Amino acid sequence: MIVGAGMAGVQTAVELRQQGWRGPVTLLGDEPHPPYDRPPLSKAVLLGAEGGALADVRFDVDFRALGVELRLGVHAQALRAEQHHLVTDAGLVAYDALVLATGAYPVVLPGTAGLAGVHPLRTLDDAAALRPVLERREHVVVVGAGWIGAEFATAARQAGCEVTVVEAADRPLAGVLPASVTAHMTGWYGEAGVTLRTGTTVAGVEAGGVVLADGSRLAAGAVVVGIGARPATGWLAGSGVTLDPQGAVRADERLRTTAPDVFAVGDCASFPSARYNRRLLVHHWDNAVQGPRTAAANLLGGEEAYDPVPYFWSEQFGRFVQYAGFHREEDTLISRGDPSDGSWSVLWLRRGVLVAVLAVGRPRDMAQARKLIAAGSAPDPVLAADPAVPLKSA
Ligand code: FAD
Repeated sequence: MIVGAGMAGVQTAVELRQQGWRGPVTLLGDEPHPPYDRPPLSKAVLLGAEGGALADVRFDVDFRALGVELRLGVHAQALRAEQHHLVTDAGLVAYDALVLATGAYPVVLPGTAGLAGVHPLRTLDDAAALRPVLERREHVVVVGAGWIGAEFATAARQAGCEVTVVEAADRPLAGVLPASVTAHMTGWYGEAGVTLRTGTTVAGVEAGGVVLADGSRLAAGAVVVGIGARPATGWLAGSGVTLDPQGAVRADERLRTTAPDVFAVGDCASFPSARYNRRLLVHHWDNAVQGPRTAAANLLGGEEAYDPVPYFWSEQFGRFVQYAGFHREEDTLISRGDPSDGSWSVLWLRRGVLVAVLAVGRPRDMAQARKLIAAGSAPDPVLAADPAVPLKSA
């Protein structure tokens, strides 16, 4: 039994079959739509460039042929792990083994839950609700200059909307990248014709716009909120599945939870990374694809450890931004290439070993660096700073 029919849930079902499991597989999810992919929702789908129809983002998986029972529109309400029972709004479901893949839900701006004109961007329905906003070329205020905010702002500008991005921190992506790196990204907003207001907090939303903490108002036909996501695990309270302080299911290195026969994958779960010597909670697509391979193998009796080099990409303001690995503030930063040229990379070394890379328009750097990070290799720092020299171990 798999709960949550997003990428991690679907991929778990596919992996179970690929790895030889012939018994029943049920994939239960609370959204009414056939399972679909999320990254296009903040990109082409908003513009209708992929037809905008559900069929274009739907996973190319024939569940019937795979022998997977899809139960859509069913919400898991509680877990009775000792009895191996899942409580759903459609009744009690017994399972032998359970995979938690309930993903994450977007953080709501305080006091705005359900308010007309205030949009999260997580689901297909969210994207569908935003399409008319772009079609009408409304003035949009985007709250949060993170990955989703930047991608939405890109699409909205492309559609011809006037866009203001309001960010409480003093720069975009403040919680993710150092100031020396985001300094090269801040200008992207202005270049695209987007007004970026950093150090600005939204206090509330009212008809026709947002109210800022200083009491001033910003007019807006629509408000799009991209201020982060939290693991969708509230329903597991009291189940015996331990959650960590961020609310993520606390999986072990085999992606097992603290409850018997219960595993967890994707955005809803954190796992211990031996590679980075810390627990990671990764809210990116690649993790939702890779984790299920390990979970399925272990569910079928294997003893595989999950220790990926995390990876994600973002498409914003005409740039292809990729990041792999995990860096800390104290790691040594090496710049590779001139940001004013439009394509550049940044490497992070820890005691000489490459631990993370950010590549803007340099997919080859990304491919080479990912291999070095996975191998725990140490590049020559002088050569690594030369964008004309391929990245390799010293
Ligand atoms: P989800 O996709 O969230 O799926 C979980 C499913 O479980 C949902 O359908 C949910 O409704 C359901 N569910 C939750 N609770 C219950 C319950 N109690 N009972 C039943 N069902 C339940 N990553 C990148 O690397 N690059 C990108 O460019 C990128 N773009 C993105 C753009 C957008 C708009 C979004 C939202 C995400 C993007 N991501 C991107 C992140 C990536 O899509 C996620 O990491 C990935 O979807 C996680 O998959 P998941 O299956 O763990 O969770």
